Amino acid sequence: MSIVEVLGVPFSSASESEVLMTCKAFMQDTQPHFVITAGPEFVMKVGKDRNLQEVLSSADVITPDGIGIVIASRWYGQPITERVTGVDLAQKLIAYAAQNGMSVYMLGASEDSLQKALSTLRELHPTLHIEGRNGYFKEAEVSGVISSIRGKAPQLLLVGLGQPAQERFIATHLEEMGVPLAIGIGGAIDVIGGTVKRAPVFFQKAKLEWLYRLLKEPTRMRRQMALPRFALAAWSEAKSQVRGRSTN
Ligand code: UDP
Repeated sequence: MSIVEVLGVPFSSASESEVLMTCKAFMQDTQPHFVITAGPEFVMKVGKDRNLQEVLSSADVITPDGIGIVIASRWYGQPITERVTGVDLAQKLIAYAAQNGMSVYMLGASEDSLQKALSTLRELHPTLHIEGRNGYFKEAEVSGVISSIRGKAPQLLLVGLGQPAQERFIATHLEEMGVPLAIGIGGAIDVIGGTVKRAPVFFQKAKLEWLYRLLKEPTRMRRQMALPRFALAAWSEAKSQVRGRSTN
């Protein structure tokens, strides 16, 4: 897989179908694998956090989950063709698991949202083996959560605890959990269960999902301030790299 490094984060430039193929192969492996779906907000967090840089280095694949990353890749002269989002990967890999007799574990979201997501998925895929646990647990409960996941032996673990908590959780416990593939999926459980609506197709096609989320949840404004900071930092880094290349 070719890589585009944006502000120190090595993104895969593979298309969604290529990433899906890799993920399906991971699900059949005996070794554990870890996929991160990262947008500009995540990239801005990595810059300030050494521990998060270690978490990144333990990931097998980091996908561009945000139009900001796709646009920035063009500035670096290494264009990524499309976004590969956590919610899309989750839905497609769940369908694959259902068709192939594999099992899935979903960790995250409120109890209500999780139960809605589980029943939606069971209805959609009657052959699917899926279990889950809500994402609100104390430090003292972590070992119980790990053994419950281990006991179910899923091929696919989807973790929606918000970023970067979910990535830290996966990186710390991946070996103990022994799951072939773990992916951080942010708020995807809420989207699947219908407690949070995904942006209408118009916003998705116009690459304005971030604007839709901002209009629906104005409290995200503070978080979305990371977007212009990201654009500025990536633009300057890309420009200096391009300048460096032309003087060499
Ligand atoms: N969440 C959770 N446990 C926590 C904090 C958050 O399970 O302790 C869940 C929350 O209910 C939501 C998801 O994590 O389903 C975070 O969604 P968000 O859209 O904020 O994801 P992000 O943008 O951080 O990827």
